[in-house]
Formats: sequence, C-alpha cells, structure tokens
Amino acid sequence: MKLFGSSGIRAVFDRDLLALAFRVGLAVGRNHGNVVVGTDTRTSGDAMKHAVISGLLAGGARCSDAGITPTPTLAFITREFDAGVMITASHNPPEYNGIKLLNPDGSSFDSLQQVQIEEAVSDESFEVARWEEIKHSDIYSGAIEHHIDSILPGFPAGLNLKVVVDAGCGAASEVTPRLLERLGCEVVTLNCYNSGFFPRDIEPIEANLQELCRAVTESNARVGIAHDGDADRMMAVDDRGRFVSGDRLLAVLAQAVGAKDLVTTLDASMAIEEMGFNVRRTKIGDTWVSEELKNGGDFGGETSGCWIFPVISLCPDGIYAAAQVAALAGQQKLSELVDAVPVYPLLRGSVASDGVAMPRLESNLMAMKPLSVSNTDGFKMNFKDGWLLVRASGTEPKIRLTAEAKTGERAQQLYDNGLAAVMDSVDTGGRAN
Ligand code: MG
Repeated sequence: MKLFGSSGIRAVFDRDLLALAFRVGLAVGRNHGNVVVGTDTRTSGDAMKHAVISGLLAGGARCSDAGITPTPTLAFITREFDAGVMITASHNPPEYNGIKLLNPDGSSFDSLQQVQIEEAVSDESFEVARWEEIKHSDIYSGAIEHHIDSILPGFPAGLNLKVVVDAGCGAASEVTPRLLERLGCEVVTLNCYNSGFFPRDIEPIEANLQELCRAVTESNARVGIAHDGDADRMMAVDDRGRFVSGDRLLAVLAQAVGAKDLVTTLDASMAIEEMGFNVRRTKIGDTWVSEELKNGGDFGGETSGCWIFPVISLCPDGIYAAAQVAALAGQQKLSELVDAVPVYPLLRGSVASDGVAMPRLESNLMAMKPLSVSNTDGFKMNFKDGWLLVRASGTEPKIRLTAEAKTGERAQQLYDNGLAAVMDSVDTGGRAN
C-alpha cells in the first residue's frame, strides 16, 4: 500500500484518514521508543493528534504532545526524541490533513523507512503492545521558545525595521512574529491567529499574497514574510511591495548564509550556477534536497519556498528563513539584492496523460541534440543557451515541461519542441495546458 506522497500522507479529513492516523501511530510506536507529536492549526488537528498518540502508546512508545507547532519547530525538537510525527497537510486547503514523519536530524522519513511504515500499516496481524508495556504520554511545553532560542544567537539583535508577517493563520502565526520582535523588528501581523481556517489560499504563491504586497507598501515596511500552513515554506515581498520569486530568493538566501556548496532541484533557474555557487541538483521535491544535504553542503532550497539550513536541521525551516530575510533587509534594501540576481525567461506547462511511450519520447527528445542529458528525474536536457526538463508529475497523471533560456524566443522554441516530442509520444490523446 503506497501511503506517502512527495511530502508525507495527505487526504481530506474523514473516517479513513482518522483510522489511518491510529495505524501509522501504532507502526511508528512499535519501532521508536520516544516520540514527539505536533499539529498545525487545522480544525481536525486535535482529532488526528489523539488518534496518532493512541497508536503510539498502543505500540509501546513513550509520547510527548508539543501542541500547535510549525513542522520546522517540531523537526528541531525531534532531536530530543527517536522520531517526530507532524499532523499537517502543509499547503493543502483546510479540509485536508495528513502526517509527516521526522527523524532526529530533522529530515523526513526516507523511502526505506516509508516502506517499513506502509508494510506495518497494511499488515492486519499487526499487534498492539502487551498491557504491561504501555507507557504514558505527557505534554512538551516550550517547543516554540526552544526553536526561537536556537535561532536568535545567529543574528544581530536590534534589527530595528518594520516587517509584515502573513502566516495565513497557519502554524507560524505565533512563532514568526515573536521571533522577529525578539530580533528588534516592529512586526505588523496579517492572518496571525489560530482559527483552524485559512483566510487566504494557504500556498505562498504570488496570486495568494496580494494582500501582503499591499500591506508592505501601505505600512512602509522593509519586507513582507509569508508562510504555508505548517511553515516549512517561507516566501518574501520586497520593500517595493513586489513578490520575490523563488529562484531569486534561493540566490539571495544562499548569499546571505555565505554558501559555497548548495543543493537545489533540477527545475531551479540556471542563474544559480552563473552566480558562482557550487551547485548539486536533485529530483523535484524538498525531501530530495534534504537527503542530498546529508552528503554535505551549506544550504539547500526548492524554489517553492522550502529553504534548508543544515546549521539548524535538515527540515525546510521557514522560521529560520524569515530571520535571515529580516536580517538581510536590515542591512540593505531587499529590492536591490533581488534585482542583482539575473532572471531569464522560464516557461512551465503540462500535458494531461495516462502514460507515455518512453522509447519514442526519448528518441523524440534526443533529436533536439542536447549538449548533455540528466536522467535524475525524467529528462533534463542542457543546451548552450538554456535547458528543457520533461518529467512525469509525482502527484497527477501529467507530463510536466519546464524550459529556460537566455532569450524569450529560445525558451519558447525549447518549450514548443519539447511539447511536440511529448504530444507525439503520449498513449492516448494528450491535452496540453
Ligand atoms: Mg508545508
């Protein structure tokens, strides 16, 4: 039974998800002696949490309840435990919930660990612990303060700048404003209360952050900070009220932490190599970036807003990233830093498809005569003046295409050629969109 998507288990909350939460807790509890549990702000968070805790205890584990915490906060305190269970559906709408499983170094359970959980969950003969082995649960208090206290020493105090924080009423509603105030910022809050509902669409993309852009301009703030539901993501708005793209934020944060060796996904802009960083590329998905950072590297990121700082943990940490961006904006206008990062035309699209004739697709793509090809995730073809990525979506029956080049004409040409190659190879009536 395949339970884990690219970022854990996610589904609309219902009886099945609740039952699954108990069984995942049981599977984790059978193999981990001491486990911490946290939730984001969703209405179903408590119900899910108690199901997980029930499973953990029935499995024989000791268990601590950290309450409402961002994923990176729970990941940070998981260093004191054998495993962490985060109840969240990340940037999915509020009716969803889900589970992320964390290791003591903050990384997500890897594919082998996920398979072990899946096997245990689907094993009907899987037993609970004997009555005399059952432990107690307790409350873990101060998770947010622990996280803040670990971040503060890395930054100058007295930042003295105005920041707008839009937590989307997600799990960072308390921690990010408090951290930035401790750093000396004047914080204007937007959607920073726990209601279980999200007043804006919770994914931190430009279309969902127009209110934040306006608030930065109207309040004359130096920077705006936005998170998703569990605050493993952070995106920013500059002092001119402009949303900062993930590609540019990747470069700005890499410079801020003085990174030499960084890890990012195949679909990030080629600008990052041009800026002189030593870059290692992974499959799409922040868990791959995290996994690669175990082999070394100063900083990692995915342009969706996941920024990983190994100095604190291997979990994308939107809270730590918020402190970095505020510290940067205290030294120099964020707009100037952002405008110094090269930006190239980049096109994204997809073809709806249930399947593709791989040999035909490969020969169609090779006819474009790339200089080099990477098969890390689909086909990434590098050309003298750009690149094209063609890959199957991890979550939907689609083939995704991304093209970037020095000029708009060339990006369009690469994209169109890639699209033609895909359309010629899909099994049944693919639709481009
Ligand atoms: Mg998230």
